[in-house]
Amino acid sequence: MICPRCGAASSVLETRTNKTSMTTTRSRLCFNEHRFKTVEIHEPVYCSAEQRNVKFVQAAAKRSHFWKRDIQIAKQLGVDGWQALAATYGITKSAVYLAAKRGKQWYERQQSRSAR
Ligand SMILES: [Zn+2]
Repeated sequence: MICPRCGAASSVLETRTNKTSMTTTRSRLCFNEHRFKTVEIHEPVYCSAEQRNVKFVQAAAKRSHFWKRDIQIAKQLGVDGWQALAATYGITKSAVYLAAKRGKQWYERQQSRSAR
């Protein structure tokens, strides 16, 4: 499950099952240390609410896309140079370096979390 704030991958800290409402709540922590909760519900309940949640899900997917792109740019900057990356992603030189800076931070946090 990706983080709704930054789009990074997350892991489950705690799971609670609520038998009366037929839901499961999970506490999660993303690679950037953001805590959030998810609620697992039965499909018919979800489908009725799905249309209202489309924009929220699209925004989270967009953040996830940029998170992955920035990590890729950080990894390739020393190999390909900024000109090639700017051409590949259709962004400016300063955007390449900004993305590489963010990507490096995210990549390092991901590495330090998976090492624990
Ligand atoms: Zn996050």
